[in-house]
Amino acid sequence: MATAARFWTLLAMNDGGRSRLHGMLRLAVWALLAMASSTPLLAAVQLVADRDEYNLAAQVDVLADPSAQVDLEQARGSADWAPINGRSPVFGFATGAYWFRTSVVHAGHDEQRWVWLLPYALLDHIELHVIRADGSIEIRRSGDRLPFDSRDLKHRHFNFLIDIAAGERVELLLRVRTESSLQAPQLLITRSAFFARTHEAQAGMGLYYGILLALLLFNLIIYLSLREPAFGWYVVYVCSFGMAQLNLNGLAFEYLWPQSPLWANWAVPLTIAVGQTSMALFARTFLDLRKRRPILHRIFAAFIAFQLLMLAATPVIGYRAAILIETAGVLFIALLILTAAVLVMRDGFRPARYFLLAWSILLLGAVTYALVSFGVLPKVFLTEYGIQIGSALEMTLLSFALAFRIRDLEQEKQRLMQHSRDQLETQVAERTRDLNQALDKLGTLNQRLHEHSLRDGLTGAYNRRFLEQSLPAMLANCAESEQPLALLIVDLDHFKQINDRHGHLVGDDCLRAVSALLQGQLRNDSEKLVRWGGEEFVVLLPGSDRAAAVERAEQMRAELASHPSVVEDCHVPLRASIGVACAAANQSGNPEALLQAADQALYEAKRSGRNRVVLG
Ligand code: GH3
Ligand code: MG
Ligand code: MG
Repeated sequence: MATAARFWTLLAMNDGGRSRLHGMLRLAVWALLAMASSTPLLAAVQLVADRDEYNLAAQVDVLADPSAQVDLEQARGSADWAPINGRSPVFGFATGAYWFRTSVVHAGHDEQRWVWLLPYALLDHIELHVIRADGSIEIRRSGDRLPFDSRDLKHRHFNFLIDIAAGERVELLLRVRTESSLQAPQLLITRSAFFARTHEAQAGMGLYYGILLALLLFNLIIYLSLREPAFGWYVVYVCSFGMAQLNLNGLAFEYLWPQSPLWANWAVPLTIAVGQTSMALFARTFLDLRKRRPILHRIFAAFIAFQLLMLAATPVIGYRAAILIETAGVLFIALLILTAAVLVMRDGFRPARYFLLAWSILLLGAVTYALVSFGVLPKVFLTEYGIQIGSALEMTLLSFALAFRIRDLEQEKQRLMQHSRDQLETQVAERTRDLNQALDKLGTLNQRLHEHSLRDGLTGAYNRRFLEQSLPAMLANCAESEQPLALLIVDLDHFKQINDRHGHLVGDDCLRAVSALLQGQLRNDSEKLVRWGGEEFVVLLPGSDRAAAVERAEQMRAELASHPSVVEDCHVPLRASIGVACAAANQSGNPEALLQAADQALYEAKRSGRNRVVLG
């Protein structure tokens, strides 16, 4: 039955030819060929009353023409036709041309004007030969190398309007040549079904690009207010990814540059390159690779540099090479980003988890898309729109991921700030303690220095400065507490002779001995011994009245006289004259007057024979 139909078709097709004889001859050859070869016979698609949509691709025969030299006649006569057997009409980056043939019989449908539709946007050259029963052949041309206006229906997918009369049988012979991935799904549908289908697809597209636009604007505003680079790159990424998608599904050609088929073609690899560049830039910023994985960061940089190079090289290497490299690039960058996300997540960077989830979803879509392009996977709804579904989900998730990332980074910042605050406080406490210790030491040293400055170097007794500073205060204290203050000037007798006889060093020893002896005579801390000059000492005795002072002076003189200084086994006798003066308890004394009085008394003691005490 099928053989008969085929025979009839061939007969009908050739019947309108030039001479009947010629036609008959050819027919015989065709018939012989058909019988000799194992070429399957073409079953016609029946356009029946209650069906508005027919998937032609499911029933086509395919003829590969690698040299692209085969013409219509040769194609029709070829023995190499093979049925597609339900496979998807996707041939990846194929060389040469591909022929598809199918027959349609109008079997009672009301509609006589049909839309032949090829729902794919990137084919370069399409020739559809409509071969009617009367042998007439009409050639319809389309493809994205022609201006958009050349299409019967202004739609992103290639289409022709074909009239098929009731009962008519039409053979459709399609020739496709393209540098992109060769995909040739074919439908025959009524116009109302086409518009319904378009309506739904446009709504889907609107939803998809609406989501992208909303995410883009939302994150752009966040970027403008936060100036966080990850948001900036995300915006660039969504923008260029959306642009690449617009090119891939033909919307860019339809709406942006319908008059520029050349640019519409080049825009595909170029926007994919830009998309991948921004994808890499976004991922490496989000994952903070510069800090966390410097080697990966450099690999990303190399990939970005390569893509930028590709942008420049695309016109040189040609569309086919560029689109091949770019499609492979999608696989490479998707896997690279996945690896980076896994590694950074394992390093403990929490935002990488959200990123990984989002990325896995897109990856699934991208891999599906690439596998469809290479002809590995069939073209069904989920694989065809996988990248749209995946990317819409991915970008929404990434938008969340950005928010989480900001939150996590903020928490991390707070934690670090708290840590450094704590550290700072500890350091400040340590420094304060050190400083206080140093200040204490300095205070003690100062105190010692001050003490030192008031002492005599040779004897350790107070010096003249001390007396000048302290005497007025002591006098004032005594006056306040109504106590007397006695002042004694002790001057060694003929000390010059001791020096002359025993030498200056022995003189020094004697002075030290005298100082120690007089110090031993003091009874409490308020009594002071001062070295007043060379061999003169002043003794201050607060609380001693004149009588007590004379008594104390006498004791001192006697002590000195009875304790000769011992130098090198020889005894050096020491004598002293002492002048005593006293400020009475009820009067406020004058330091100079008191010293003057004591000095006067001393002079008197010397004058009257030395080694005695005289009260002034
Ligand atoms: P007079 O009994 O009149 O006080 O006789 P003098 O020799 O003690 O008195 P004078 O004022 O003439 O001489 C004081 C001597 O004391 C002179 C000086 O050589 C000696 N002298 C003063 N300061 C020091 C000192 O620091 N070390 C020594 N070794 N001798 C001193
Ligand atoms: Mg003297
Ligand atoms: Mg003297």
